[in-house]
Amino acid sequence: MDRHKVIIVGGGPAGAMTALALTHFRPELAAEILLLEARSFPREKICGGGVSGRVVAFLEEVGVTLQKLAKVPVERFTICFDRDAFDAPFHNDKCFVVRRSTFDDFLLHSVRERGVEVRAPLAAVGAFREPNGIAVLDAIGTVHRSRILVGADGVNGRTRLWFGKPHRSRKTLLLQTDFPRDPEMPSGDSLIFDFTPLRFGRSGYAWFFPSMDAEGAPVINAGISGGPFVAGSLKQSREIFKTILDAHPAIKETAPERFHLRPYPEQDFSPFSNQAGNHVLLVGEQLGVDAFTGEGLAVCADSAAAAAQEILIALETGDYGFKGYSKRLISSDFFPLYLIGRPFWLESPGRRPNLLFSMATRKSHPGKENIMEIYGKLFSGALPAGKVFSPYFIKPVLRDLPPALLKRLFP
Ligand SMILES: Cc1cc2nc3c(=O)[nH]c(=O)nc-3n(C[C@H](O)[C@H](O)[C@H](O)COP(=O)(O)OP(=O)(O)OC[C@H]3O[C@@H](n4cnc5c(N)ncnc54)[C@H](O)[C@@H]3O)c2cc1C
Repeated sequence: MDRHKVIIVGGGPAGAMTALALTHFRPELAAEILLLEARSFPREKICGGGVSGRVVAFLEEVGVTLQKLAKVPVERFTICFDRDAFDAPFHNDKCFVVRRSTFDDFLLHSVRERGVEVRAPLAAVGAFREPNGIAVLDAIGTVHRSRILVGADGVNGRTRLWFGKPHRSRKTLLLQTDFPRDPEMPSGDSLIFDFTPLRFGRSGYAWFFPSMDAEGAPVINAGISGGPFVAGSLKQSREIFKTILDAHPAIKETAPERFHLRPYPEQDFSPFSNQAGNHVLLVGEQLGVDAFTGEGLAVCADSAAAAAQEILIALETGDYGFKGYSKRLISSDFFPLYLIGRPFWLESPGRRPNLLFSMATRKSHPGKENIMEIYGKLFSGALPAGKVFSPYFIKPVLRDLPPALLKRLFP
């Protein structure tokens, strides 16, 4: 049996970022944190690997420099639907694509360098509340006691369930693959999101990101999101993906005849899900991802920052209720993008994009910005997230609405 102030279950980006934020603000806490990770790193994680400027800004803020990390820089989004495509530049050089095994290993290594005890591979197999904290049982039968438990164990993590907090939002099926990339291809600096799956009754998108394999060779990281968890969904997603790939000849050129699409579950962030309780905080994919772009790493960064602030206050005051956590989460930078993405997101079964989405691929008015250009700037951090609540954002939304609808709304 051993004692700590904080136990973090899961050493992916959310767990590592929480440890990095805590030790940045209170370096002496390093000796009082235990991180349990079930797998040995580097480990593969199915992911697009798109890292936004907001995540980079968080890492810089907690003292992590990314110069030595192998990455592919990206400069823009390309939002496609059928034959329409719209480019939204990021307006800074902060966004990139990374191989998740490399990125996650880099972050966990940084945590170890700060003096945090990381035990891996060692899974937590159960946990319960005690009068003054939490007891966690690991896979070799050791009981670890602490004041606080941070659940950073990912989309299938069990910490949530150990404390009676069922998942609120639906899980969806994502498929991912890698195939060779021509480094000279014209869209090699873009995160391509193709929303054509809607035409097939699928609330999701196909993505094509310039990435690299474990040896550093150029690849396209591609996949499709939005499949329901029902029999036959995997086969259907695969077929839709292949059809969409045909519409991107430059990418298809390098794709092999047969490729393996790997399945993985995902769930959307919901502000109404349980995020904390006495002595317990949940971070990262336990909370979900942005519904529009599927970005989860910004949720990791922002929830890690919010959790670290709550933990520091709790250790100071002795109040471990974490009542302020939800409010802190919705004041984070990812939340305004979530607010934009939600209505844009196409849950209509009508096989056509909803009204707001159709504005996404509409060209800008001369000298004015399209809504996606603003979104791109927010994603990269070139524009502060708070701008969403200002006329700067609201005006172009109103301007892009069709005049007939505007007249009806504002006679
Ligand atoms: C196909 C796909 C594409 C995606 N693309 C992007 C993208 O391009 N950009 C982006 O920002 N996000 C993307 N996401 C989302 C992103 O991958 C996740 O949001 C992110 O990985 C969440 O990090 P995490 O640390 O919460 O969870 P994870 O990365 O899953 O880490 C959780 C860790 O906890 C460990 N663990 C689990 N249970 C236990 C236990 N009992 N004891 C100890 N350890 C345990 C696991 O081994 C794992 O290492 C994508 C997701 C998918 C599925």
